[in-house]
Amino acid sequence: MTCVRCSQTREGAGKVGLPGTLGAEVEERVCSVCWAEWVQTQIKVINHYGLKPVLREDREKLYGFTREFLNLAS
Ligand SMILES: [Zn+2]
Repeated sequence: MTCVRCSQTREGAGKVGLPGTLGAEVEERVCSVCWAEWVQTQIKVINHYGLKPVLREDREKLYGFTREFLNLAS
C-alpha cells in the first residue's frame, strides 16, 4: 500500500485498535513505520496537553491529533 503520510509503498499498520472510521482509515492508509512514529509521538502529545484518554472528550482530541499527524482528513 502507499502510505498517505510518507507516500512510500510499505507494509500497512495492521490492527491499530482505534475505533470506527479512524481505525479503519489508519489500517487501510497508513504504513507501519508512520504508525510506530505516532505511537511514540502520542505519548508526548498526551503529556504536553495533559490529556486523560479515559475521558471521552480527551480521547476525541487525541483522535484529532492522530488524524493531523497521519495526514488523514478530519
Ligand atoms: Zn508512512
